[in-house]
Amino acid sequence: MEDLKLSLPLIFDFSFGQLEAIFSDLNEPKFRVKQLWQGIYIQLWNKPDQFTNFPKTLRDKLFNTFSFDSMIPEKILQSSDHETVKTLLKLYDGRAIEAVLMKYDQRRTLCISTQAGCAMGCVFCATGQMGFQRNLTAGEIIEQVLHYARLLQQDGERVTNIVLMGMGEPFHNYESTMQAINTLNDADGFNLGARRFTISTVGLVPMIKKFADENRQVNLAISLHEATDEERSKLLPVNKKYPIRTLLDVCRYYIEKTNRRITFEWALIAGYNDDVDTAKKLAELLKGLLCHVNVIPLNPTANPNLKAPTKEQTIIFQQTLENNGIPCTIRLRRGIDIQAGCGQLAIKHNPPTNMI
Ligand code: SAH
Ligand code: SF4
Repeated sequence: MEDLKLSLPLIFDFSFGQLEAIFSDLNEPKFRVKQLWQGIYIQLWNKPDQFTNFPKTLRDKLFNTFSFDSMIPEKILQSSDHETVKTLLKLYDGRAIEAVLMKYDQRRTLCISTQAGCAMGCVFCATGQMGFQRNLTAGEIIEQVLHYARLLQQDGERVTNIVLMGMGEPFHNYESTMQAINTLNDADGFNLGARRFTISTVGLVPMIKKFADENRQVNLAISLHEATDEERSKLLPVNKKYPIRTLLDVCRYYIEKTNRRITFEWALIAGYNDDVDTAKKLAELLKGLLCHVNVIPLNPTANPNLKAPTKEQTIIFQQTLENNGIPCTIRLRRGIDIQAGCGQLAIKHNPPTNMI
């Protein structure tokens, strides 16, 4: 497939206010900005002939000023139960990212990437093992959402939830991530409520503080995975910079500031962090915090030494936490047959064979 060349600025990178300023420079009236905004974020248009409410000259001007497409869906994989779809999207510079749609009852949840690759190097994560390539712009984060929104639109459906849990560390690309949320949140446009978003972070303490100070309604999930610094540093190198105590201090700050509950994610790995003692240690650490733990039985990646425990062991871990006063849920494993589960997103040279 031919490469996209992004010679024009991507329209989704601009806020409503910025577009107003540009339209004023183009000598176009203000109401056209609203029409454009509704066109791209409500109607989900991205082709000139869709903007039938615009005169031809303005359509030409728009499509000569902005790009409305910066990525091409290159591979689309569907899980055997048809409830998970993973799309590999090729970016204009030849790099690629992945984004996932999960259908569950009435929910249509998207798992969106914020970076190509990731700099954090967590040993159990396929994205981490790829290394860092680059940050995505706000527009590129938004375009992943619009890609699936258009797909759902064909069935008369809408995106109901967005988790920033795809490739990359959202708090390592803070401004673009927040700008994307602001745009998608706009009531006169895409209109997805702040509470419908969840950001998952590996624990970048200064950014959690900043996020707390912004007092947003967006949900926060923190990837904890181990209860001692020694163990956590082995799996998550970032722990050397922001150890557990510092991390939990900022979590307390966040809860005080926002009065919102934090989700702690726990990728359960057989022989590492799945025993009863660890569960008790974790319960002790989290005592008194407004939080709950979301256990994710480890999804398989390239490392053969890291595996999920048995179902029985998983339930024992959950019950130990619950018995020690910490609410705990086990995350449903979705899309494992197409490597669309948490931590499985990575760009391989050899595409999987189960393409549709
Ligand atoms: N960078 C962010 C968000 C992306 S990863 C973060 O680390 O939080 C989303 C979640 O998947 C994180 O909790 C991460 O620790 C978890 N994860 C990574 N690899 C995994 C694997 N192989 N199995 C299960 N969960 C995994
Ligand atoms: Fe990056 Fe998150 Fe993977 Fe760690 S788990 S390498 S922070 S994407």
